[in-house]
Amino acid sequence: EIIDAGWNFDNSYARLPQSFFSRLNPTPVRSPKAIIVNGPLAQSLGLYVEALQSNDGVAVFAGNQIPQGALPLAQAYAGHQFGHFNMLGDGRAILLGEQITPQGERVDIQLKGSGPTPYSRRGDGRAGLGPMLREYIISEAMQALGIPTTRSLAVVTTGESVIREIDQPGAVLTRIAASHLRVGTFQYAANWSSVEDLRALADYTLQRHFPEVKAEGDENRYLSLLKEVIKRQADLIAKWQLVGFIHGVMNTDNMALSGETIDYGPCAFLDVYDSATVFSSIDTNGRYAYGNQPHLAGWNLARFAEALLPLIHVDEEQAIKLAEDALADFAKLYHLNWQAGMRAKLGIFNEEVEDEALIEGLLSMMQKYRADYTNTFLALTFDKVEDTVLSGSEEFTQWQELWQARLGRQPESKASSHQLMRSRNPAIIPRNHRVEEALEAAVKHGDYDVMKRLLHVLSSPFAHSDEQADYATLPEPTAYPYQTFCGT
Ligand code: AMP
Ligand code: MG
Ligand code: MG
Repeated sequence: EIIDAGWNFDNSYARLPQSFFSRLNPTPVRSPKAIIVNGPLAQSLGLYVEALQSNDGVAVFAGNQIPQGALPLAQAYAGHQFGHFNMLGDGRAILLGEQITPQGERVDIQLKGSGPTPYSRRGDGRAGLGPMLREYIISEAMQALGIPTTRSLAVVTTGESVIREIDQPGAVLTRIAASHLRVGTFQYAANWSSVEDLRALADYTLQRHFPEVKAEGDENRYLSLLKEVIKRQADLIAKWQLVGFIHGVMNTDNMALSGETIDYGPCAFLDVYDSATVFSSIDTNGRYAYGNQPHLAGWNLARFAEALLPLIHVDEEQAIKLAEDALADFAKLYHLNWQAGMRAKLGIFNEEVEDEALIEGLLSMMQKYRADYTNTFLALTFDKVEDTVLSGSEEFTQWQELWQARLGRQPESKASSHQLMRSRNPAIIPRNHRVEEALEAAVKHGDYDVMKRLLHVLSSPFAHSDEQADYATLPEPTAYPYQTFCGT
């Protein structure tokens, strides 16, 4: 008898015009086994952890069983990949449907690594255990850092191996997202659907993510859609920059309209502060370098605006003018968010014109002396600057005097500044060598304890507990820079 796991599906995406998806089931796998199930997340979704861990639960995560009410499908989308426009679509993912949570929220339940689809091009539709656990670790760390993100509900192995650079166990990740609507979904509609279908997609997106816009009955609600998506991205990208997150593959198909971080492939966190930092092996021109992310987000949003033009105004010139005005706000909004975040990282509550120079002064010293980004802010928070490579330089001493004077000019106490800094400067980020260490133990040795310890300390980055201090240490210098790989 099947134990009720709490699945409560609706399938609104499947009610969109046919061209937006292909109905198909995941391809069953040989021998599913649970590696990790996210208890707190399951609970918040109205799911029962024990049932999810049973054979039937694991069969669902593996794609071997379709839960009642699900209507599995692969989504169609296009995208600019490193600037080149392509037809894409879910090539190795299946949307099971939307779970309606006890709070009445609607979230996508997607299996990643669930077999080939009509949109698979060269790939086998499968995923390796290492990359799926990597997505699990980093997305859950992002969530704990307060950054909008898709979540990871479970990873199961398939009992089959996938052939990549090295053979490794096959795995399926269950991904939770506010939706999988992307800039690329609109690019697909604009290029290969009718204007009616494009409008249906826009109305659907408004209803799902920006219901308040629709309620206003705004005449030009498609321009409002553009503006709302711009606002969410200006918030998201500022949060990435503030924590030193490098997405690595900001193609337009990897930008979610909900404003969540999506598609954890070659992403990694900054260690040494350097705006040119790139970890992805395929990003040879540094298109998606740390310092370029705000610019590239603006570029992607312009592609979104282009797709929306026919809806924004019947007159194309008018539509372009309206879209350009909206797009111009992205850089301004981003900068305001970033600056507000930087002030808080420095314990500053109010605004002064010179703050910009104070912030830039610190960052340029960090770049010049190759200071670790996260640990420099920690050292400032806990008054331990003598531990940093900045300590001892005349310019840093001068900067500290300016900073202390700045803190002295605001009404809030030093204690309040310290509290603010503690709440904005994480004790721990998923450092590359720590993530690698956890993945190696898991994939090579079947030892998941290293990963579970890492997940535990990453779950409360602002606790500043003793056990986290160990995770602040930097890796030993290596001969080659850290590199990440896509889609493996
Ligand atoms: P990504 O770089 O992860 O955004 O993926 C780009 C496109 O490649 C998407 O259409 C994916 O579905 C597809 N893709 C990635 N890996 C595979 C795979 N192993 N098999 C089939 N399609 C894939
Ligand atoms: Mg993708
Ligand atoms: Mg990917």
